[in-house]
Amino acid sequence: MSKQTVPLWVNGQTDAATSGRMGDVYDPSSGAVIRQVQLASAGDVDRAVAAAKAALPGWKATTPLRRSRILTRFRELMEQHRHELAQLASEEHGKTFADALGSVQRGIEVIEFASGVPHLLKGEHAEDVGRGVDCHSLLQPVGVCAGVTPFNFPVMVPLWMFPVAIACGNTFVLKPSEKVPSCSLRMAELFKQAGLPDGVLNVVPGDKEAVDMLLNHPDVGAISFVGSTPVAKYIYQTAAANGKRVQALGGAKNHAVVLPDADVDFTVDALIGAAYGSAGERCMAISTVVAVGEVADTLVARLADKAKAIKVGAGSARESDMGPVISAPHRDRIVALIDSGVAQGARLVIDGRRMKVAGHEGGYYVGPTLFDQVTTEMDIYREEIFGPVLIVLRVDTLDEAMAMINRNPYGNGTAIFTRSGAAARRFENEIEVGMVGINASIPVPMAFFSFGGWKASLFGDLHMHGMEGVYFYTRTKAVTSRWPSEPGLSGGSLVMPTM
Ligand code: NAD
Repeated sequence: MSKQTVPLWVNGQTDAATSGRMGDVYDPSSGAVIRQVQLASAGDVDRAVAAAKAALPGWKATTPLRRSRILTRFRELMEQHRHELAQLASEEHGKTFADALGSVQRGIEVIEFASGVPHLLKGEHAEDVGRGVDCHSLLQPVGVCAGVTPFNFPVMVPLWMFPVAIACGNTFVLKPSEKVPSCSLRMAELFKQAGLPDGVLNVVPGDKEAVDMLLNHPDVGAISFVGSTPVAKYIYQTAAANGKRVQALGGAKNHAVVLPDADVDFTVDALIGAAYGSAGERCMAISTVVAVGEVADTLVARLADKAKAIKVGAGSARESDMGPVISAPHRDRIVALIDSGVAQGARLVIDGRRMKVAGHEGGYYVGPTLFDQVTTEMDIYREEIFGPVLIVLRVDTLDEAMAMINRNPYGNGTAIFTRSGAAARRFENEIEVGMVGINASIPVPMAFFSFGGWKASLFGDLHMHGMEGVYFYTRTKAVTSRWPSEPGLSGGSLVMPTM
């Protein structure tokens, strides 16, 4: 793969976009343009969908066991190349190499899960649902599926989608974020090396033009999306109106409730990692702390001490704890939101607005920022900041904390820190959020569970990977059978059959 220009990947080989349009790919640590990406035109996407459609009959007819063996080889190759992929992700995203490596591992776990597909595709069977009548169900592929992914996890989020879809017998067209295109291309090369037939996985870097073609293409049966809420809603509405099944994961505003009985040192460590890891550019980042009762003063003081100690630097520098944010406009938006917090009366405990990293003056850095005395009317509470900004709100009771979370339009992740089993159990039961941590600040489910939020964090019904991923990428068929040679069976009548 050329390091200068990231091409398309269609029908098992690199392919050139016909749009003539290119996007710049930046190293956010330095602000330099490190390569360009070809942006697929509608016609290029049509070509990729045609390749996926042509590959579908052969792949569908490949037994689940054979598909699983190719996935296993792909997993092995991903393990062998995980440093290279983490390096690419770190370079184009800006996150630290160690953080990128962790996210590559979490992605590989989805391939591991999908390799169990012969077992996952077993349907149900019931004998004698009526006299001499049996019923069984089949999980069959949807057809050509497509995925559209965000910038913040260049390896992991695409891996939430295509290994499961492909394991289930579908073919796939992936539209990665144009900001971080290289990892998707590299994974497509590795999957081919593992034995994946041409056309089963295609990659079309691009922007809205490419996405709109996928949403409107009559040969695409299912769309998986991960990104911001306004785009998720648009994807859901457009694809659903075109008769496709859709799972569209959106943005987040994840709250952590800290009760007065929490282990404060443990909690502070967990919150620091969850708030500032990956410069806050994780959909499961904890961006909001709800301090209950008298714990607030101690908590804010210790959070401040730890946040000040975070080393900000280039993603590639081994000593960095935290890298830059993705782009100059995104940095400016974060700084403007911090300005608004100050103007609207929050107490700015640590100010990351003027962060500079020596030797990387062109990089897009925002230092760890901490606000106290935030209220729900302020923009820093209402907006998803998606940067290294942690806000603290103070309430008197668990009831108030839970009501605040349940009123928030987002419902991706949340956490509670407490020593009380009763409080944790009540929280787990009553909170209106899709992923819940109990003394766990980033409750990202393992690959054999499903990942997804509620409310404005998910448009659609089924979450990603785990069994919900398998159900999303398959259509259920129920078969009722009887064998007329059996004595005494009638062939039926005009009356609605009952067993
Ligand atoms: P984004 O919505 O800007 O872009 C996501 C994808 O959609 C990209 O591939 C992009 O090219 C495409 N896109 C952008 N605008 C479009 C438009 N108008 N029409 C069609 N396609 C369009 O998101 P991002 O900035 O890349 O990622 C950050 C966002 O993703 C945050 O809001 C974050 O919370 C969210 N996210 C959510 C999850 C989750 O699991 N819920 C996971 C990761 C990221």
